[in-house]
Amino acid sequence: MEQPESQSKITRPTCPACGHEGSRVYINLMDRIFQSKEKWNMDGCLNMSCRTFWLNPGPSKEALPDLYADYSTHTENEIVTEPEHAPKDACDGLLENSIRAYLHYAYGYFEQIPLLPGLLSRFIYLYPSWRDQAQMRVFYAEHVGDGKFLDVGCGQGGNMLMMQALGWKAEGIDFDSTAIAIARKRGLNVSDQDIHSKNYPDGNFDLILLCHVIEHLPDPRETIAECHRILKKGGKLVLITPNGLGAGHRKYGRNWRGLETPQHLQIFNPKSLKYICDEVGFTDIQAFSSPSGDDYVLYQSALLAKNEKIGASDFTPEPSFIKRHLKWFLRDLKGYHWRDLHETAVAICTK
Ligand SMILES: [Zn+2]
Repeated sequence: MEQPESQSKITRPTCPACGHEGSRVYINLMDRIFQSKEKWNMDGCLNMSCRTFWLNPGPSKEALPDLYADYSTHTENEIVTEPEHAPKDACDGLLENSIRAYLHYAYGYFEQIPLLPGLLSRFIYLYPSWRDQAQMRVFYAEHVGDGKFLDVGCGQGGNMLMMQALGWKAEGIDFDSTAIAIARKRGLNVSDQDIHSKNYPDGNFDLILLCHVIEHLPDPRETIAECHRILKKGGKLVLITPNGLGAGHRKYGRNWRGLETPQHLQIFNPKSLKYICDEVGFTDIQAFSSPSGDDYVLYQSALLAKNEKIGASDFTPEPSFIKRHLKWFLRDLKGYHWRDLHETAVAICTK
């Protein structure tokens, strides 16, 4: 039975990142990718060193599961137990080997790097789109022998497989019990409890990842504080989330894919990630925008600008290696002058 609006929505008068007041930015936003039928308003933080956007009112905790009725973090494909980075052609093969070489020199992964990829990996340092693609492969984390890794919102465990293959002891949690069942079939150590009820001991993990998770949480600060508690001294929290200050949001406004109303309760940016992690007690915080989601987000935003509804998997990557990399190169040049340009915000926080 449908709940009356008063029970399904709660007022969120202040910014979930910094606690300041906001002003109305959008009215009557609709779910244009999944099935929720209600209309939503979004506020923007008036604190210029934060500038988070958030739904106000937002869904109540009781109403949250209904928003995810057809929102899957799992697919029905056959169960794969190995991480996949299969090169599409010879150019991709050389790039793949150069990425491995970069990860060897910069982050301590892999042994026995062949000469040519070893030399080419030096260019990856200079080229942000390739460098970020490589860094995202290890979630910006240096190799830690037998390091303990927690993936919060692990879905069916793709990130865990990647990290296990790199030598990490991986553990995952997710609210999606179907995704968790698939992850279990892959032999992964996963649970459908939330991070608070798991009650991990203090100082338990070397690395915690929240990849496209904090924008969904009713109280992101509480979860980041819990991550701080369960990280070892010197351990790292890595947050990856849509960037509300990127070029896509400026260009497409309410059609920007990153809004994903109403599942995204708030939209952070590098500044507001830094703000919230600093408040929680992290000492060394690097926050920046990453090009990793640019192609998908900009493609889907252009579709939303022309269509009332779209599918989450509607995306055709540029098939030509040359055209694809030329586009990335031009975007990277712009990124040297406009640091918040890209569609994904990342924070790497050390305890
Ligand atoms: Zn704020």
